[in-house]
Amino acid sequence: MDHAQENRSSKEKKSVDFIRTIVAEDIKKQKNNGEVVTRFPPEPNGYLHIGHAKSICLNFGIAQEFNGTCHLRFDDTNPTKEEVQYVESIKEDVLWLGFNWADKEFYASDYFERLCQFAVQLIKIGKAYVDSSTPEEIRASRGTLTEPGQNSPYRDRPIKENLELFEQMRKGDMDEGQCVLRAKIDLASSNINMRDPVIYRILKAHHHRTKDQWCIYPMYDFTHGLSDSIEGITHSLCTLEFENHRPLYDWFLEALQVPCHPQQIEFARLNLTYTVMSKRKLLELVRHGHVSGWDDPRMPTISGLRRRGYPPEAIREFCDRIGIAKVENLIDISLLEFCVREDLNKHANRVMVVLDPLKLVITNYPVNQTEDLEAINNPEDESAGTRLIPFGRELYIERSDFMEDPPKKFFRLAPGKEVRLRYAYFITCEKVIKNDQGGILEVHCRYDPASKGGQSPDGRKVKGTLHWVAGQSAVTCEVRLYDRLFFKENPDSPKDETDYKAYLNPDSLKVEKAAFAEPCLASAKVGDRLQFERLGYFCVDPDSNKDKRVVNRTVALKDSWAKMKKI
Ligand code: ATP
Ligand code: MG
Repeated sequence: MDHAQENRSSKEKKSVDFIRTIVAEDIKKQKNNGEVVTRFPPEPNGYLHIGHAKSICLNFGIAQEFNGTCHLRFDDTNPTKEEVQYVESIKEDVLWLGFNWADKEFYASDYFERLCQFAVQLIKIGKAYVDSSTPEEIRASRGTLTEPGQNSPYRDRPIKENLELFEQMRKGDMDEGQCVLRAKIDLASSNINMRDPVIYRILKAHHHRTKDQWCIYPMYDFTHGLSDSIEGITHSLCTLEFENHRPLYDWFLEALQVPCHPQQIEFARLNLTYTVMSKRKLLELVRHGHVSGWDDPRMPTISGLRRRGYPPEAIREFCDRIGIAKVENLIDISLLEFCVREDLNKHANRVMVVLDPLKLVITNYPVNQTEDLEAINNPEDESAGTRLIPFGRELYIERSDFMEDPPKKFFRLAPGKEVRLRYAYFITCEKVIKNDQGGILEVHCRYDPASKGGQSPDGRKVKGTLHWVAGQSAVTCEVRLYDRLFFKENPDSPKDETDYKAYLNPDSLKVEKAAFAEPCLASAKVGDRLQFERLGYFCVDPDSNKDKRVVNRTVALKDSWAKMKKI
């Protein structure tokens, strides 16, 4: 499928949500000359997570569907928390997800001079003042949800004095916390955001882009709407917590002479079961060593999911399926895993790997003989072809696939039982070799040469089919098996007073240090995604080197498959 076709078919599939409806109507009315400009505005204070993917798919998706553009804008107004490494990771993640901002890469910090001029404009029209109250006094006088705030004694400073003081703030003549610039709105407003919000503060900090040029920094609410306007954004899509910031967003744009007045529209953020989604908490997990880094495969970060083996197509499909709504909810992580399986089932080649090897000797197979058997790479994709896998007298099977004294419905290998070795032969177990302590060392079997390829020679049936690896040519690898990072469905529930870290799953990582894989794994490259037959989907980890293969389990083969099919 070429790209245009792919676009079209995904467009057809997409349900029309309320934001797309608004955008389509605006185009019909020729609002903004029928143009659509959106933006994805991350703050570079952490790595992107799957929640951001929802926002990315929405903003870039709408731009694509309506022939518009989507800007990537870094909201970098807080120098104390932001870093260049975050900017780089964000760009990498957006590209990997399959979106491209072309030359529309912007930084709020590039607007610092213009934002400062806007602040001066506000002072000049009597709508902003320098408040010399202490931070505590300002906080105390803002009131509560039920009580109005109190005017600051500095609220009626003359315009001229405000201009001079603001200039002194800018020049660095004042200390941090000595004063702030506030918008003059209404301390009695029922909306706390409108109670003379701070728009500039003194911060003698080094900024990753503007270096030491500034010692005053604009606040988020002031910066955001004006940056949108400077860039000619038509639809400014943000999450629900900004709903009661919208009056302030509009107030700045109405008070000032601005290039345009974008429309802010809010949608529900993505919450996912068994994980946390705030960057602050994810940073804490990294800093405290609960995970190996931002890209630990257990993290809900884009880089973590990538390393774990989630294909970008699956993440986009997930974002499509959850849709866009105005009510917060908690999405079952199984839906994301379902999308991942659905994609990998189509695209991942199958190989055989034994996680916990048990030696199996075929006693009637000639010593020193080997042969190559044909195996299908992907039954879902004929074009993936076949490969040859070596077979010989000494093999390995999964320890859990053998039981000396099995219960009734055990259809795998047991003394006297016959099973199929996938793509190879029927074998029957005839002997178990044990050590002095009774531990099983080897199992001995006979094979039926007439069952080559795993085909029954005479119509007799076997119930079990096992995966296996030939001893001589096996490639050793380390396999990392992941479980949910938290054992509680909603570790981050606002109603719960326990610290979310108390719900970390102590068994979220299990490592099999010496698994055996068929030879083709030796040439697999970092990032390659494979299905290990019967075990799940796996991805080659960057910790691999020429002496050691490391693979991550992306997802097991089945979960609540049937349940999810209904979605
Ligand atoms: P967090 O609360 O996780 O720290 P944030 O909102 O502070 O995230 P930003 O970098 O400001 O992170 O987010 C960039 C954009 O992504 C914003 O438009 C924000 O609304 C959106 N976004 C962040 N988290 C989610 C989420 N869970 N679901 C949907 N959109 C999100
Ligand atoms: Mg934010």
